[in-house]
Amino acid sequence: MIFDVGSFLHQPAGATRAYRLNEHQDKSEELPAAGVTGTVSFLRTRRGILVSVCLSAVSSDTCSRCLEPVQSVCDIEFQEEFAPTVEIDTGTRLSPPDDVFAIDGRQVLDLNEAIRQYRLASRSMQPLCRPDCRGLCPDCGGNLNLGPCSCPIRSADPRWRALSELRQKARIGVEERGS
Ligand SMILES: [Zn+2]
Ligand SMILES: [Zn+2]
Repeated sequence: MIFDVGSFLHQPAGATRAYRLNEHQDKSEELPAAGVTGTVSFLRTRRGILVSVCLSAVSSDTCSRCLEPVQSVCDIEFQEEFAPTVEIDTGTRLSPPDDVFAIDGRQVLDLNEAIRQYRLASRSMQPLCRPDCRGLCPDCGGNLNLGPCSCPIRSADPRWRALSELRQKARIGVEERGS
């Protein structure tokens, strides 16, 4: 997702250019690797290039409940302005404003960082294989989506457990008295 924009920067404001993208974004510390496809278009502005992106990033993740592999799709749509850090004809250093991304000194526009930031912002911290994933049994680790495991059913509230133990004792008491 790297574009040589040297010749495009020579064009007057208002010039456009469009690309179809089908690329791979490497794994980073916070994000899994992804296949990135879609369209990117450039509009030459007075101070740089306005980049419009309409992409979808498909990555392999892990369900946060059952740990099965899931494919997560992240749609990325944004417009960001990129500005040169070096004046194209004279080679003079420029300081682009804070609100834009920088085009490096060799007039290379790198979309990777912008795409990474947008992927990160829209990433679900707890990816799920399906909204109602039942997860793993905390006792045996069985995948509860495949059916119930053979562990005894635990009651969620310890007070109910205490009550059922009392009931069981009472029943034993009745049986003992009856015999
Ligand atoms: Zn799951
Ligand atoms: Zn179990």
